[in-house]
Amino acid sequence: MVPFDFEPRTRLVFGRGTVHRAGQLAKALQFQRVLLVADRGVLKAGHVSAVTKSLEAESICVVPYHDFGENPDSSMVETGRQFAAPLQIDSIIALGGGSSLDCAKGINFVLTNGGRIGDYRGYGKPSHRLLPMIGIPTTAGTGSEAQSYAVISDAATHMKMACGDPSAAMRTAVLDPELTLTAPHHVTAMAGFDAIAHAVETAVTIKRSPLSDTFSYRAWHLLSQAFERVLLHPADIEARSAMQIGAHFAGMAIEQSMLGAAHACANPLTARYNMAHGLALAILLPQVVRWNADLARERYAALMGSPRRRARDEDAAETLALKLEDLARAAGLGLKLSDSGVEEGAIPELAALAATQWTGTFNPRPFDAAGAAEIYRAAL
Ligand SMILES: [Zn+2]
Repeated sequence: MVPFDFEPRTRLVFGRGTVHRAGQLAKALQFQRVLLVADRGVLKAGHVSAVTKSLEAESICVVPYHDFGENPDSSMVETGRQFAAPLQIDSIIALGGGSSLDCAKGINFVLTNGGRIGDYRGYGKPSHRLLPMIGIPTTAGTGSEAQSYAVISDAATHMKMACGDPSAAMRTAVLDPELTLTAPHHVTAMAGFDAIAHAVETAVTIKRSPLSDTFSYRAWHLLSQAFERVLLHPADIEARSAMQIGAHFAGMAIEQSMLGAAHACANPLTARYNMAHGLALAILLPQVVRWNADLARERYAALMGSPRRRARDEDAAETLALKLEDLARAAGLGLKLSDSGVEEGAIPELAALAATQWTGTFNPRPFDAAGAAEIYRAAL
């Protein structure tokens, strides 16, 4: 079995209305001057004022920061650092979707350690501890609040960089399912499929362990049952809760197990075609499951939770791939790359980029440019 080292670094607080405890939770961590990193969508939904009110009730000074967009890049992180540098903040609260959480972590790296975010690519590069952070996700998707990595795009190449450090883990994660009620349908769909992809990819990597399996399997169970319910009934708070906890568990699985070929192939599509991460995964993941079948069939069967099923009884990989296509269809996410304007001629360049993605090195079937090209062709 693969060795593991599990030290929970994040206090996890779940429940309806827990966002109103933000002040109390920040006070417990001795926050006094907070940079509140929140995207503009969250500002409009009124969540920023709820958190600010809760912090101010505990006499904590709040400086809001909203000057960044989706898929935060190295220049947005630098703008945030310049904004925060003179403020003498002692802590950061990230409120919003994955972009807010990743941007907050990225700013924290360069604010505390100098240089550029690209200097921290990999794991454990900072020489100083990052400022303590609280993460409050408003979507059920990336599970960034469960991870010690900031995913930031290079502003020049648009390719994603993963920058990790133990101190980049949130001290506290606040999961309030009521915050996800305001997410627009397409955000619920894309973020939800991203979380599903995290559960499926982490369940089969070469780094997976009995510990990561625990999170992957439970995440898949929660997400695959609740996904269609939240799409059909956005106000169903039980389904919203299942999605949010499932996304968090899938994030915990990534922390232990990393990801695979679907994420490696998705990143170049976001970089070159500005394709949404969740959409790229909805198109690619079923094909990656088929491509991995010979090496991962039994793992996929275990993920789907039929302990008595034997691998040769039926093709678990194909069953899972079809189920993922059903979920993508229910979410209105396209099933082909050509629907998003990707042409056959672009495949060699995309495949070469995919082969450079660190995340592909954890895929159960050895992954290279030739393999990436096969996956892209199958998804065309
Ligand atoms: Zn993802």
